[in-house]
Amino acid sequence: KIRTRIAPSPTGFLHLGTARTALYSWAYARHHGGEFVLRIEDTDVARSTQDAVEQILASMKWLGLDCDEGPIYQMQRLDRYTAVVAQMLEAGTAYHCYCTPEELEATREAQRARGEKTLYDRRWRPEPGKALPPVPQGVPPVVRFCNPVEGDVTWDDLVKGEITINNREIDDLIIVRPDGVPTYNFAVVVDDWDMRISHVFRGDEHINNTPWQINMFRALGAPLPVFGHLPVILGDDGQKLSKRRGAVSVTAYEENGYLPEAMLNYLARLGWSHGDDELFTREQMVGWFDGSHLSKSPAQWDAVKLAWVNGQYIKAKADDQLAPLVAAQLHKRGIASDDRLAAICGLFKDRCETTVALADWATAFYADVAPSEADRAQHVTDAIRPALATLADKLSATAWEKASIASAIKEVLTMHSIKMPALAMPVRVLVMGTPQTPSLDSVLAIFSKEKVIERLKA
Ligand code: GLU
Repeated sequence: KIRTRIAPSPTGFLHLGTARTALYSWAYARHHGGEFVLRIEDTDVARSTQDAVEQILASMKWLGLDCDEGPIYQMQRLDRYTAVVAQMLEAGTAYHCYCTPEELEATREAQRARGEKTLYDRRWRPEPGKALPPVPQGVPPVVRFCNPVEGDVTWDDLVKGEITINNREIDDLIIVRPDGVPTYNFAVVVDDWDMRISHVFRGDEHINNTPWQINMFRALGAPLPVFGHLPVILGDDGQKLSKRRGAVSVTAYEENGYLPEAMLNYLARLGWSHGDDELFTREQMVGWFDGSHLSKSPAQWDAVKLAWVNGQYIKAKADDQLAPLVAAQLHKRGIASDDRLAAICGLFKDRCETTVALADWATAFYADVAPSEADRAQHVTDAIRPALATLADKLSATAWEKASIASAIKEVLTMHSIKMPALAMPVRVLVMGTPQTPSLDSVLAIFSKEKVIERLKA
């Protein structure tokens, strides 16, 4: 059975890169009718927080990446790791090491001086005929894995193809720290084994860890999962996507008015393709995502493209589904909305790429507007004031619907022998606070008559 997982460390928000890995893992499982597991890797106790856990879970939920199992917390599985370590110590595939940090540093120093790679010298590794140093008093040991000293580790990476590392390149990894907490590389193996994970997708910064993990799977007699290491996502400066260069958390995009379906669509294309398809539904992606067409080279984050994709989804979304999202944005600004909001969304969604932009437009309907001095000076001229006054009078006597508003406007144009823009621009500036809006009659019809007249008269 296909089983995949996402294993975030709760040391911060859900990073876009992790979100993409989660999406691929989820889609792969769904494509094959398999299962998707969420595991919280919280063994870095000093840096893990409950707040981060909650933010990660909320982002997963927002993206709609539902899991079949989890969240499973590593810190609740310590007994299991302890039991596996005991088995390994017993079997001779792990051993205690009492080296002090000073001893380890001295070894590394000497290796550096000889121009060698810095590797643990296996001082405490039990070997036939070898006398181990006397156990020092008061030094809590670590547990190390007996990595094979010869041969290669080879795997056929789903993304990168065949990768081979010589065991001489890697040393006897610490699997349990002095405080008894397992390290990432060990816990991940026990978990992927216990959770029967068949396919591991993760960022390629973990490629160096994989040979150790494969050796441990083998030492434990556990079946090997298939690994797929995804290339990094680069920012537009060609560097790894980072906070300094803009929002990198899923939460930030939620707050900035992006739709989860657009985020998923955009993330999907960062390292995977299905022909030239740019816009597709989550269901289509699941149908197509069979592990092929994964890109070997880094993807480039493109904020402009993401905004475009989001705009497409905003346009396609029903007005009454956009309304609550925009209401939430308005609420953050302390603005209460009402049932006109769906119509407002309908009128403005074509020109908006985010729900924040929609909220900017909607604000004019619910809060005072402050047209700029420049717009006032340019459009609300003395010459047009008489026509504006006529319009205010005409509108007072008009039934409040689009068609009659439109004919009232036409009458004023005829009466004052002016063209539409001469009247429409100042009205927009006064009523909406800006000269760029959809057709005047549609905009005015959504306002209350009183509000329009009040703003015209002001
Ligand atoms: N906790 C690790 C990370 O967030 C998981 C890596 C893995 O998927 O094995 O990078």
